[in-house]
Amino acid sequence: MKILKFGGTSVGSVQRMHDLVHLIDDDDAKIVVLSAMSGTTNALVEISNALYRKDHDQAGILIGELEEKYNYIVTDLYSTKSAIQNGLELINVHFDFLRSFTRDLFTVNEEKAILAQGELLSTALFQFLLEEKAIDSVLIPALNFMRLDENSEPDMAFISVNLQLILKEYPDNKLFITQGYISRNDFGEIDNLKRGGSDYTATIVGAAIDAEEIQIWTDIDGMHNNDPREVNNTFPIAQLSFDEAAELAYFGAKILHPTCILPAKNKNIPVKLLNTMQPEAAGTIISSGNQLEGFRAIAAKDGITAINIKSGRMLMAYGFLRAVFEVFERNKKPIDMITTSEVAVSVTIDNTENLDQIGEELSAFGNVKIDTNLSIVSVVGLFPVDKPGYAAAIFDALRDIPVRMISYGGSENNISVLVDTQHKRQTLIALNKGLFKI
Ligand code: ADP
Ligand code: ASP
Ligand code: MG
Repeated sequence: MKILKFGGTSVGSVQRMHDLVHLIDDDDAKIVVLSAMSGTTNALVEISNALYRKDHDQAGILIGELEEKYNYIVTDLYSTKSAIQNGLELINVHFDFLRSFTRDLFTVNEEKAILAQGELLSTALFQFLLEEKAIDSVLIPALNFMRLDENSEPDMAFISVNLQLILKEYPDNKLFITQGYISRNDFGEIDNLKRGGSDYTATIVGAAIDAEEIQIWTDIDGMHNNDPREVNNTFPIAQLSFDEAAELAYFGAKILHPTCILPAKNKNIPVKLLNTMQPEAAGTIISSGNQLEGFRAIAAKDGITAINIKSGRMLMAYGFLRAVFEVFERNKKPIDMITTSEVAVSVTIDNTENLDQIGEELSAFGNVKIDTNLSIVSVVGLFPVDKPGYAAAIFDALRDIPVRMISYGGSENNISVLVDTQHKRQTLIALNKGLFKI
């Protein structure tokens, strides 16, 4: 069994949906994971924001605009009257649901139910299209098997057992369609795997059924050596190790959800990154194969906050770092980068939730300084620590950039620097020139 995930642009128009039918219509057994049509989740976020603001008029306008878009798509997508009728009725049900939020109190759970509508719509519309074309397929609702545990991590045991039970109900079928991104939480409520989460669904589903391969189909021909949104002259990378891909995803390469590599790595299932607009392009293969020494790719992660704690007295005494880290643990806040000196320690975090509380707790240990609007730029590859030259090449490339923190030596796969976000593009371009000579 293979898993094929198609992102927002791959289902983003009538033409793309028709192209998609051709891409999946062969004899291979597969589960197709679909995202919402591009722009839909952003529109649902805007609708939710209006509901949080109690601006029901604005929410109504946004819902109406989105509904009009879908009605138009449906009349174009199908050729038979009955399929168009089914599509319009489906849309009506989902948009009536969106319009039902008229109370002043709008909750996080309701927001999650709203955000789920994009994937529910795209998969149902696509299933109707397959039915119209007489292609045998089964729509398996992700909300019947995707589950998060009490730490909001995928409950792999639950997912594996339940997905396999569902698949067993269809011994003669080879084509299954399901929703990316959406899940239930440990209370059984609708939840999600955070933005870009359909990639994560694909690898979780792949690991749950020991798939032979996971394919992530998107709008670019694989993982590029640098962020193509920021830098010209990037090129696709043919092969990546799981560890390299995981570092790139975590440190901002948007083509992959930050944590989606782990399930595939745990089960040693190769992940291919492919382009729906150019299906013949080689793309990128992520696997456990041999890692090549050298620089592989550069990525950047925005929205970083640096916290510096300076204390003349007790710093570097044993137990001090533990006390500092306990503050982050209590506030459930993962740390990305750490640097220490004799009198100070700096760490970075990637969101500002609970920041005031963290600052207050840390101030018990010394002077606390907080800087926002920073970016981590990570160079990923294989840099054996006993080989000279890698750090020197990076620092040489960054000679004109004000660098605020440096992290090297934690793993042989990553050298990261912290810069002001206003210097991010300059940093990415300088590294592209310095490390890849382009
Ligand atoms: P999808 O909707 O298919 O999930 P995404 O927009 O989430 O697609 O991811 C694909 C986009 O990721 C590309 O269009 C590209 O702009 C961006 N991207 C950022 N960094 C990289 C990179 N290193 N390699 C390839 N694409 C990247
Ligand atoms: N539709 C969701 C989003 O836009 C999930 C995804 O596309 O991967 O974030
Ligand atoms: Mg994505």
